[in-house]
Formats: sequence, C-alpha cells, structure tokens
Amino acid sequence: MTMVNINNHPFIIDPHTGLSGCTCGKPHPAPTATLYLGVDAARVMADDCRAVFADQPVLLLSDPDVQRVVGHTLEEQLRATGVNLTSFLLDADPVADDQTVAKVRMLSADKALVISVGSGTLNDLGKYAASADGKPFWVMPTAPSMNGYTSGIAAIKVKGVKRTLPATPPERLYVLPEVIQNAPLKLRQAGFCDVLAKVVSDIDWQAESLLFSQSYCGLPAAMMAGVEKDYSEQPEAIGRGEEKAVMGLFHGLLISGVAMSLAGSSAPASGGEHLMSHFWDMREPLTGRVPERHGLQVGLGIILSAACYQLLAGLDKKALAPRAEAEFSATAARIPEIWGPYAAEVAGQFANKRDALAAFDEQLPRYWEKLRPLFGQVRPPEYFVELFSRVGAPFGLEAFRLSVDEFLLAAMNSRAIRERITVLDFAAHAGILEQAAARALALIRT
Ligand SMILES: [Zn+2]
Ligand SMILES: [Zn+2]
Repeated sequence: MTMVNINNHPFIIDPHTGLSGCTCGKPHPAPTATLYLGVDAARVMADDCRAVFADQPVLLLSDPDVQRVVGHTLEEQLRATGVNLTSFLLDADPVADDQTVAKVRMLSADKALVISVGSGTLNDLGKYAASADGKPFWVMPTAPSMNGYTSGIAAIKVKGVKRTLPATPPERLYVLPEVIQNAPLKLRQAGFCDVLAKVVSDIDWQAESLLFSQSYCGLPAAMMAGVEKDYSEQPEAIGRGEEKAVMGLFHGLLISGVAMSLAGSSAPASGGEHLMSHFWDMREPLTGRVPERHGLQVGLGIILSAACYQLLAGLDKKALAPRAEAEFSATAARIPEIWGPYAAEVAGQFANKRDALAAFDEQLPRYWEKLRPLFGQVRPPEYFVELFSRVGAPFGLEAFRLSVDEFLLAAMNSRAIRERITVLDFAAHAGILEQAAARALALIRT
C-alpha cells in the first residue's frame, strides 16, 4: 500500500536512531509501526481510515467485551466518517485457532484493510489473517496485557498445537489512554508478567546462541533497558491504575513487541517461560480448564525459569553427565499419554530439536564456565513471586485454576512442544529440572 501523506503519526521506534544497540552487525528490518495516542484516538483512526482507503471496504474485528468498552464507539466513528465498514463480532472469549482464522480470512477476502479492536486474541487473529493475505492491518489496543501488539508473530493454534507464526506487524496503532489505564487489574498484572519475561528469555537466548545458533543480538535488551524503569519498580502503582505507571507498562510492552520484530525472532521475549503458558493453552481440550491470561501463565513460567537458573548457576561442571539420549527418550515416551489426539503433532516438534539436544552432551561441559555467570544474572524465583504479587491480584496456582499435577506436568514436559532450545532443555540436561519444578511449586502453591 502506498502511504497517503495525511495524518502520519510518530514511529514507536525511530527508524534512524532506534537500531543503535545492535551487537550482531547483521541487518535488522526498519521498524515501521506508528502510534497515535490521545482521547480522540477513535475519531483520528476513522479520519485516517477514510483518508487512506476512501470507499474501499474495511473489516473491523471485536468481541462482546471489547464492544461494550470501546468497540461500539469506534464502529460509530468509522461509520460516521463514511468508512465502508463490515463489523464482525467474534464470540465471547474468542480463541485464535486455525478455524477462526479461516473465518476471518473469508470475511476479509474482499476488504482493503483489517482493523482489530481488543487485546491478545483479537490482535493475533486480525494480524495473522491480514498478513496471510498481504493486507494492511491497524489495531486499537484495549489493555496493557501482552506484548504482541507490535510483534512480527501471531500465536495461533494449528491442529491443536500452539504455534507462533510469522505475521506482519500492524502499520498503525491508535490508543485511548483511558481505556488502557482502566483495563481490568488482571490484565494489567498479566502485562506486567509478560514484559518481565524478557529478563529470563533474554538469558535463554544468550545461552542457546552460545551453544548453537550464534544468533544473539543485544539490540532488544538495549531497547528495553531504555524504558524499563518506567514500570519495573512500580507494581503497586500499576495495580492502582496510576496513569504514569500503567502507560509506562504499556509502552514497555509495545517496545518489547517491536524488539521481537526487529530481532526477526520471538527469542528475546519468549523462552521456556512461554512454553509453560502454551502448554496449558494446548491442554484445554484435554483437561477442560479454560486457560488463564497469557501473561499470568507466563508469570508462573518465569518462576520456574528463575528456579532453573538459580540451580544451574550453583552447579559444578563435575555434576554434568551425558544424558541426552536418555532425556530425549524419556520425554518423548510421555508425549502420547499427555497429548492424546495431538501427540503426533507434538512429537514432530520435539523431533525437530533432537539433533541439538544430542549435542548437549558435548556442548554443555564445553561452555559451562561461560554459561554459569550468565545463569547467575537472573534473580531468584522469590523475587519474581513477590514482584508479581505486589500488583495486587492473587498470583499462584489456585488463582489460576491450576492443579499441582498440571503444573508439574508442564514443568517437566513443555520443552517438547517447540523446537526452540530454552532453559528448560538446559535444566533437563543438567539433571535439575525436577528439583527446580519443586522449588517453584513451593513458592506458588497458595
Ligand atoms: Zn543486531
Ligand atoms: Zn508473551
């Protein structure tokens, strides 16, 4: 699409100065998403939409919750401005799966633009469907609940397996600060956990990169360091809904998403802690448990990752033993019982990293003295439990409707659902995963 030179808004990351933290020397794509933030964001979006797309048809996606809060207002604005609008109201608590994507793509087939109003799922659905057909995508976020608004990926369940698939980030974001600020407490707490995931996932990425891919770049961490203080020390203020802290959190989430899209991978903000959340999302049809908010499940994963790092940092090289084959076989053998009808799909993902896992026997001792100081950078799990609880909503298994068994199952087996190498693989191969799970469990069992 050619950008019409009207109502252009500032880039979230300045394309000229925003890449200065790069340490890998490889080219990064220029960040392109722009942001308009203001009390008149709905009207400005409608004006822009009319100016850019004139009479061309546009699809608006929302769900009943969002529709009540802001979707209805946005829809009226778009219609009042003369936008040729089709509105699609998804079911309550929609799921981003392949069937829903197919439905959205059918509806957007003859549209020039897809707009999502909402948070995680609506954003993933709109972004992925628009991207799959090469259509532009705009979004009005409604909660500081996750970092996916600006990322180059979408979390979609395909044949029952949660995948993070490439998807072009939105061209434009329009934000009503009041809506973000007044998002439910749980969603603010979820976003706080999701943005903090990078303190463990960045170490996951560095460790993996050292042993295998040599893909690490300091750019995402440098970008995040610039905004960190605006939210990381303020859980209570986020809990109280104070504008500065909540908007600081929201900004941190936007930057985190851009950082992933610039890195060309979700690795900077999605490591072992995210596998835990994906595990429980995927288990829904088997257990009947409706998943908790993405960020909150990620928060539990952060506790496990931090416990793994604590134990890994204290482990002597002499304690390492070759156990790659035995660990792979034992984990693979549990897949059919855990995954039932989805077992073949999961087994395929796990098999994709069999070679990398086999190399652990040699690579882990070889790099151990370099890895330990890296592992030691992560704060202990107690620190994160306390931090997340200070937002003011309960944080733990009971609050998130998880049983002890289901937590331990995820801790021991979520590394099988993705081919990415994370701290969970390091912990399994160092023989401390079970101990780390027990340590994490003791902290979140309330
Ligand atoms: Zn770089
Ligand atoms: Zn996340």
